[in-house]
Amino acid sequence: MKLIADEMLGKLSKWLRFIGYDTEYFSGGPDAELLLQAKSEGRIILTRDYELFMNSKQGLTVVFIRFDKLKDQLSQIKNELNLMNLSEKFQRCSQCNRTLSSVEKDFVKGMIPPYILKTKDEFKYCDHCRKVYWSGSHSKHINDLIEEIFNE
Ligand SMILES: [Zn+2]
Repeated sequence: MKLIADEMLGKLSKWLRFIGYDTEYFSGGPDAELLLQAKSEGRIILTRDYELFMNSKQGLTVVFIRFDKLKDQLSQIKNELNLMNLSEKFQRCSQCNRTLSSVEKDFVKGMIPPYILKTKDEFKYCDHCRKVYWSGSHSKHINDLIEEIFNE
């Protein structure tokens, strides 16, 4: 399942990436461009814009996000799109949406704090952002919230 979120939903986009869903963030521009991208890439649209929601029936699936709070937004999406799969959690770069690759300890040497290098064995890397992730690099708070919403 692929998603695209409108410019009001930057934070939500990041969180959907944490959870593992392919989520593009449309950071502004005419609605027509958003619709075009959604159509050509087969993405479900997430929007806070009711007008866009009402005017976008062109074989597209559009979810009108009714809530302001992140937690409520995530619950709504989970329920409406039936998102249950957490197997890809933390496999995607939260900055750019690309899939992370597994890398060796040698590779990340010098790129992360020495104590992390010493205490962790599994690392993931975004080629695009040159950002290293490891287990625990996402705070406990993030993991807890995801578990709370998706494992109820
Ligand atoms: Zn990235």
